[in-house]
Amino acid sequence: MTEKNAIIEAGWNFDNSYARLPKSFFSNLNPEPVRSPTLIILNNPLATSLGLNNKALQSYNGVAVFAGSRIPEGALPIAQAYAGHQFGYFTMLGDGRALLIGEQITPLGERFDIQLKGSGKTPYSRQGDGLATLGPMLREYIISEAMHALGIPTTRSLAVVTTGESITRESDLPGAILTRVAASHLRVGTFQYVSKWGTVEELKTLADYTLERHFQDFDAVENRYLFLLKEVIKRQAALIAKWQLVGFIHGVMNTDNMTISGETIDYGPCAFMDAYDPKTVFSSIDIHGRYAYGNQPQIAAWNLARFAETLLPLLHVNKSQAIKLAENAISDFNELYHRNWLAGMRAKLGIFNEELQDESLIEGLLSMMNKYGSDYTNTFLSLTFDKLEDTTLFNTTEFAQWYELWQTRLGRQQEPKASSYQFMQNNNPAIIPRNHRVEEALEAAVKQSDYSVMARFLDVLSSPYEHSAKQADYATLPPPSTCPYRTFCGT
Ligand code: AMP
Ligand code: MG
Repeated sequence: MTEKNAIIEAGWNFDNSYARLPKSFFSNLNPEPVRSPTLIILNNPLATSLGLNNKALQSYNGVAVFAGSRIPEGALPIAQAYAGHQFGYFTMLGDGRALLIGEQITPLGERFDIQLKGSGKTPYSRQGDGLATLGPMLREYIISEAMHALGIPTTRSLAVVTTGESITRESDLPGAILTRVAASHLRVGTFQYVSKWGTVEELKTLADYTLERHFQDFDAVENRYLFLLKEVIKRQAALIAKWQLVGFIHGVMNTDNMTISGETIDYGPCAFMDAYDPKTVFSSIDIHGRYAYGNQPQIAAWNLARFAETLLPLLHVNKSQAIKLAENAISDFNELYHRNWLAGMRAKLGIFNEELQDESLIEGLLSMMNKYGSDYTNTFLSLTFDKLEDTTLFNTTEFAQWYELWQTRLGRQQEPKASSYQFMQNNNPAIIPRNHRVEEALEAAVKQSDYSVMARFLDVLSSPYEHSAKQADYATLPPPSTCPYRTFCGT
């Protein structure tokens, strides 16, 4: 097989629309060559849906692409420039350790960014080494794929390779590269960058590009930039509600980590909540709990206001009119979010129709869960199967009263209770990537090069609403620990 054939057989079919945008939006550069790439994991179903050939991807030449040692025909690696508010402070950022190698056009004609994360220094690396280590790249792989299976819009993970090089962090760790797949890597921070340092013409180019790429039905609208703002608000409201409904905590909702497409991105310090507590924070650097579970909706609104600010020159020629339009759009976020959340919560409780008191019923349950430290996922799971185990919450009369109210509520709808319980099964996951299980899989992988623990875990995570026997083991809580779970950024 010739080199060229090997690459063609892999099915790469790149376009590079972002690289046709103004030069200031990105930097052209190639990944740093690596010593000896080894494929650790390949996402076969994702590869197939992208029109790629799994076998060719696993070949020497195929793996070299994931390692950045070989640039497939049609690829044009670039590091994207962006800015962002990090913990509220504006700063210049950009792909400091990632390269967009191209946009894969799938057999269905869809377009996906293919990005190598951990591929070496770029002009935006600042003090960083441009590299990534195996544990965090596998962590992103596991959690992003779990999110996808949970039905939550997210970037995906196509492959992880080790580079054969050792990287100095708190100790020497194996270097790795993650191949990330995204509808695009357009971020709120991309708009902030162009708004701050580009011309209005460039901003318009970016907005038009974004509309073409993600929001095709803008032709008939009167003000396409207002439409863009409203659509992004809509997508983010839906996304954040989905996070809240499964207990996902992103951990670092800086504006550079918020996509325009409405996909979850940047799985650094994220983690799932065990016991229900809106104050839950896992990130070691989030000392004041800015990005705590309960704050996520209001942080999203804050980020979207920053997005709206970037669009002001496009929204209206008159600045005060533009501000008014932006403010009106932003003020819809809370209502949109709340509507999504409420619909999701009704589904989690098997409620099909709407009654005014539903929200107080839901809040009643959540506040008891908070008070008694109940596990978020498993409480809903117990209700789903009407198996009220011997937990503190379920033994209280407070809960017994709530349960009566809930059962009466279910009785007030046309659908039989069996349908409610089925509805609940479809909306309450049997399994989430629990922190102790994620750690267990990563430890086996990184310390013993044993990838079987991760493979089993990924298999179970791939069908969270199946409610099969093999999942039960993964639903158990971590043993009590004196040390709270901590997560880290940029590792
Ligand atoms: P994050 O917290 O992952 O969103 O990263 C914030 C910024 O830091 C982004 O511009 C990243 O590209 C950059 N960054 C994170 N880790 C590294 C690294 N090891 N080397 C260079 N840049 C990095
Ligand atoms: Mg980031």
